[in-house]
Amino acid sequence: MRYKIACSAERLGLLDPQMIESVVAANAFQIGRQYVAENRVRIVDANDTQISAAVIGHSGLYEQTIKLKDDHLVSKCSCTLSEEPMCRHCIAALLEYHRWTQPRQSQKGKASRPSATDADPANTPSAPPPSSMVPDVKLTDIMQFVAWLGPTFKAIESESAIPSPPHLEPGTVSTWIATITNLELRRRENQQALRDLQAEMRDREAYLDRLSQQLQTSIAEAKAAQVALHALQREATRYQTTLAQAAGLVEEVKGQETEIRTAARDLLEKATHLDTLTTSFHELTELLEQTLKQPPADT
Ligand SMILES: [Zn+2]
Repeated sequence: MRYKIACSAERLGLLDPQMIESVVAANAFQIGRQYVAENRVRIVDANDTQISAAVIGHSGLYEQTIKLKDDHLVSKCSCTLSEEPMCRHCIAALLEYHRWTQPRQSQKGKASRPSATDADPANTPSAPPPSSMVPDVKLTDIMQFVAWLGPTFKAIESESAIPSPPHLEPGTVSTWIATITNLELRRRENQQALRDLQAEMRDREAYLDRLSQQLQTSIAEAKAAQVALHALQREATRYQTTLAQAAGLVEEVKGQETEIRTAARDLLEKATHLDTLTTSFHELTELLEQTLKQPPADT
């Protein structure tokens, strides 16, 4: 979490526990002070305006950055606590820093630069070394740590669960262990995230494969449809030709019909004519018969 508090101090070393207590939550201050008392705080790097620290909290190792910037105290911690305006870890880091700078300031009789890099042995001959910068390392702790380190690295290499760390008093070695445990936890989280991503990629690839297959099927269908369309076009052309031929035939039939009608009319006329001739011939025959039946005229 990251927080900002208005602060007129020019150096972080001027922030004493009373000032810190007056601006933060009482509960967070109590816990921060307890962390300092239990030696759970490590100042990683510090100067007048910036502190980098690490605190072994109740649930793991957290990293803090505290800065004086533009009349504000800006604190940042890797924890997820919502303690405002500053979490217990940042409070612990500030208290530890104050504890660390205190003897040197009183030695010099004025506010001095607390940076570890500008220490002047001539001015502070009897200043006790800052407690948190002296490795409080016990040989038994080191031996337990080294004994734990071997199987731990093997477990990390083989990607299996790391063995339980030895139970040590809070101190430098326990900080190392907490750091390694934390790194291993993050590595596992990253691996899980990677596996999840890979699974998602596989899913997407399978989906793409399916899409590609569907596309190929669609292309094949489109080609088949095109072939069918060409066949239909050819058939339509054939039908058009047949229709044109049929139209020609109809015209021909019409012409023949006209001819037949004309011929029929001629025939009818000829039949009428023949009738007339037959009638005339009949009359002539009757007349001739009557003429023959009459007695011959006296001659
Ligand atoms: Zn924190």
